[in-house]
Amino acid sequence: MEGAVTHTVAPVLILLGPPGAGKGTQARMLEAAHGFIQLSTGDLLRAAVAAGTDAGHRASAVMEAGDLVSDEIVIAILRDRLSDPDCAKGVILDGFPRTTVQAEALDALLSDSGQRINAAISLDVVDAAMVERICGRYTCGGCGEGYHDSFKPTATTGLCDRCGGTNMKRRADDTAETVAQRLAAYHAQTAPLIDYYHSQGALCRVPAMGAINDIAARLNVVVSEATA
Ligand code: AMP
Repeated sequence: MEGAVTHTVAPVLILLGPPGAGKGTQARMLEAAHGFIQLSTGDLLRAAVAAGTDAGHRASAVMEAGDLVSDEIVIAILRDRLSDPDCAKGVILDGFPRTTVQAEALDALLSDSGQRINAAISLDVVDAAMVERICGRYTCGGCGEGYHDSFKPTATTGLCDRCGGTNMKRRADDTAETVAQRLAAYHAQTAPLIDYYHSQGALCRVPAMGAINDIAARLNVVVSEATA
């Protein structure tokens, strides 16, 4: 594949799961615990929209509708980011791949530099709980720490526990209407990747309902084994 990753990226971990499963929260915790880089295609696309790039213009309406951005755009964005030198520490992919085409592109990209993924970890959740999880969440615009109205509020209203920032943000697509479409897109286009990685022998499943720290502890065990 054109534009292969030129340095060694290791390890490569994938977090799979529907919107609201906690991929972003857990990826940030793994980043802090293991030193890997969290790579969220959602974050990269939101940055492209905010920067007004060509890819951002093309992705914006699709994201607002809760549909998937084209494989071509997302693969190009991911490939560019993966070739940054910090990714040599190892990466946790959060929200990528989301289609079989993206999964195959990732395999090709890695195999060009003699690599493969260490594990695809499915965060197993109950769909019905995802709407509440998503609609209550917000993030500190300063440091990126994630919060939730019910499950993880800030200690002082409006003030980030981590950096003291006051610029709290809610995503434009975290609404009840858009969540339904995002869940539908997950089941139609992304859930088949569970079988894809199972057949590669790379799939691990982690129960992901309950307390954030309990899920993180379970995930840590799986990640440590997959990267030993
Ligand atoms: P996320 O932050 O992962 O929930 O992604 C937010 C939105 O960005 C999704 O609803 C999609 O519109 C788009 N998006 C993020 N990652 C991908 C991807 N790998 N493939 C297609 N669209 C994506």
